Amino acid sequence: MEKILSQLYNPDEFREKGHLLVDQLAEMLQKSLKKDIPVNIYHHPEDRYDEWQEIFNTGDIDIFYKRLISDSIHLHHPAYMGHQISPPAPLAALSGLLCDLINNGMGVYEMGGPSTALEKIVTEYICREVGFEAGDGFLTSGGTLANLTALLTARNKIQDLDIWKKGTGNARLAIMVSEQAHYCVDRAVRIMGLGDQGIIKIPVNKNYEADVSLLKEKFNQATSQGIQIFAIVGSACTTSTGSFDDLVAFANFAAEKKIWFHVDGAHGGAAIFSDKYRYLLEGLNLADSVIIDCHKMMMAPALATAVLYRDGHNSYATFYQKAQYLFEREEEEWYNLAKRTFECTKFMMSVKFATVLMLYGKKGIDAFVTTLFDITRELAGKIENRLAFELAHYPSANILCYRMIDREKTLEEVNLINKNIRKKVLEEGKYYIVQTNLRDTVYLRNTMMNPFTSSADLDDFLNYLESIYLAIKNRNY
Ligand SMILES: *Cc1c(COP(=O)(O)O)cnc(C)c1O
Repeated sequence: MEKILSQLYNPDEFREKGHLLVDQLAEMLQKSLKKDIPVNIYHHPEDRYDEWQEIFNTGDIDIFYKRLISDSIHLHHPAYMGHQISPPAPLAALSGLLCDLINNGMGVYEMGGPSTALEKIVTEYICREVGFEAGDGFLTSGGTLANLTALLTARNKIQDLDIWKKGTGNARLAIMVSEQAHYCVDRAVRIMGLGDQGIIKIPVNKNYEADVSLLKEKFNQATSQGIQIFAIVGSACTTSTGSFDDLVAFANFAAEKKIWFHVDGAHGGAAIFSDKYRYLLEGLNLADSVIIDCHKMMMAPALATAVLYRDGHNSYATFYQKAQYLFEREEEEWYNLAKRTFECTKFMMSVKFATVLMLYGKKGIDAFVTTLFDITRELAGKIENRLAFELAHYPSANILCYRMIDREKTLEEVNLINKNIRKKVLEEGKYYIVQTNLRDTVYLRNTMMNPFTSSADLDDFLNYLESIYLAIKNRNY
């Protein structure tokens, strides 16, 4: 045996380093929650590259771990208000460590018995909450791939075409979706080869929800040009503003036109667990398919997305291809997951989310989602009371867009001020927020992801923004 190989797989070293690492991580968690470390340290990408080349060159695992922990963005910090990813439940992260060492491959049942069983348990759990009584589903690698998978199912289910065997031929296929939908829906359409004409965008109302009074008109317009619409996609909620489309109206429309109804609930689908806010998802149980990210609003470490079908049989309708060396039979075998997923090898995706569900259940997710939605409403109230600020919309979810205004300046100038504010916030690293454009206007954007962000934190944050704003106005930088 080569010496390097026995070093590589040394159990004693694993034990020793593992104890040290867990101690360091627990300390990071504690310091993040108490705001004793910065939420983020921003360095220019080229500088980062040089630093990490140096660290890499040391070949020292202790330095490597220490710097990864200190230099990464800290999602458990109450000043983290940026992109939509959970501060993960610590015990779910420990399950992640377990999965990484066990490393079951998941494509076929024998290569991941327990985690395959857990995948059925967690998807059935969410199906029950959604109201899919005969539902079934699986987990896949993120909302982007999940939406593509569900839309491929929808396309394969078009009655008079056999797309799997014959391709799309002369058919001009399209879906309908809000103009505020996540970019991955547009991307999915193009990956499916449907091009520009394959996506019919529904304009939004002032709350950035799809304007359902335009559904018929948009449908008829496309149909009269020979385009065949096979699906409508609801956003629940949208990414930019956290707006929920009217799912009941979408469902009725889909039923009337006999088209597939898919819901992108990557972010907001988790509100199904909130007694207070599940009303936002009324009509979700009428969808043909829905996707929900476990790593956004359900405290699981990245990455796992539930793809759920109201009629569970449809979960087998995406990939008709035969792979004889893997599957002996072409039946609906729930336990051979690669029959239904893009992935062949897949990490033990169910385990981290199952940890959250097993330990904290519906109550835990309810507390998480409800707290975040509440905090965001509180932030909106505080912003409304400040003269230098303007809200883009009232929040439905935990996403809020707003900007700092100056009535004497042009839109372009105010856009530049808000961009500079966001840049300064990023570089100083005291808070982490992002920005977005809604039509021509630049907005600051918060996703309240941390239930430990307090009312006092929100006041401090808004004071901080005002101080940056004043400095910019006085041209201090
Ligand atoms: C985040 C998001 C996605 C993409 O999900 P990933 O897991 O990041 O791939 C899709 N749709 C919506 C509405 C989202 O918020």
